[in-house]
Amino acid sequence: MIPSVLPTYNRAPLTFVKGEGAWMIEADGRRFLDVGAGIAVNVLGHANPVLVDALTTQANALWHVSNLYNITQQEALADKLVDATFADTVFFTNSGTEACELAVKMARKYWYEKGQPAKVEIIGFDGAFHGRSSAGIAAAGGEKLTKGFGPLLPGFKHLTWGDVAAVNEAITPETAAVIVEPVQGEGGIRPMDDGDLQELAHICKENDVLLILDEVQCGVGRTGKLFAHEWAGITPDIMMVAKGIGGGFPLGAVLASEEAASGMVAGTHGSTYGGNPLACAVGCAVMDTVATPDFLDDVNRKAGLLRQKLEGLVASYPDLFEEVRGSGLMMGLKCYASNMDIVTAGYDAEIVTVPAADNVVRLLPPLNISDDEISEAVKRLETAAAAVAAKKD
Ligand SMILES: *Cc1c(COP(=O)(O)O)cnc(C)c1O
Repeated sequence: MIPSVLPTYNRAPLTFVKGEGAWMIEADGRRFLDVGAGIAVNVLGHANPVLVDALTTQANALWHVSNLYNITQQEALADKLVDATFADTVFFTNSGTEACELAVKMARKYWYEKGQPAKVEIIGFDGAFHGRSSAGIAAAGGEKLTKGFGPLLPGFKHLTWGDVAAVNEAITPETAAVIVEPVQGEGGIRPMDDGDLQELAHICKENDVLLILDEVQCGVGRTGKLFAHEWAGITPDIMMVAKGIGGGFPLGAVLASEEAASGMVAGTHGSTYGGNPLACAVGCAVMDTVATPDFLDDVNRKAGLLRQKLEGLVASYPDLFEEVRGSGLMMGLKCYASNMDIVTAGYDAEIVTVPAADNVVRLLPPLNISDDEISEAVKRLETAAAAVAAKKD
């Protein structure tokens, strides 16, 4: 008999009932160190007092009014995002996949309003993940996402990850935009080189093609800059944000330049919940904490510490691990062993990590994880690695 919850997830047999900072408490009382952060979502850890206060204060005042009316928390968060980024304007969603929907619509509408309605095609890369909506799966294109869900939304083309030179040849008069994650998350923590991102931005500009960045996973301080593309010094036209921006409250956003957003006039897009007072009150508190030089400096310092310790782990278990890769506190352990074996052994060692494609174990800790917790995390990963190694012998 089908479970009452539609069985679309492969869930680990764990039930967490409470969270405290970087820790999650299982129903049986065990304390797990959480270096998955709900897939890069809980950027300030669990039950962060600042976020709890922002949420409960707002909950006591006003939950929801709809976008038929002004929402001051939404305006405040949009102002913060505009001040801190390339963007001139922001639309709020509830998730990353909804951000993808709008990014695609915005790019097509832009060219339509420019009198070039044939420009509809969007170029993406293999290994990408842009969400589970019809536009999201078509934009990513991978068979695991799309099989059985046809007819797919047309107008997407896919190139080999990192093959920026191929973009030049793939662009046609019908090309509206290129969509890329500066660091692929689901694809296995694969950062695009700064030089390649610069080249890509240059190609887009030269060919009158919009650049859409998907920073749903790598954004909001995760790589040690507020947004990952800042490392390359490039500017997108449109950017998708979600996951970390709500610190655990469902919230996403599309950021855009005034030019790229120019087709999206009143009546062209909307959302009942998107940008509601609760979500935006929390989003403001996240931005006030994360978008500060001191906080980001500390993320970079801790990223160095984590990377150094993970390099040691890889050196100790060269039969299990191939390399450490990633950026900031978005780290991947590329495995020779099965990544799921490492993740599962991690549960036994009371540490939560997240598997990714390309046989990678992802480490996406809360950005405010302490130095001691980083040391403890790597200790627990060593315990997990030792257990997997013992089984192999
Ligand atoms: C998670 C993710 C999405 C989809 O976000 P949802 O909130 O799950 O809809 C899109 N793009 C990237 C890069 C992601 O990591």
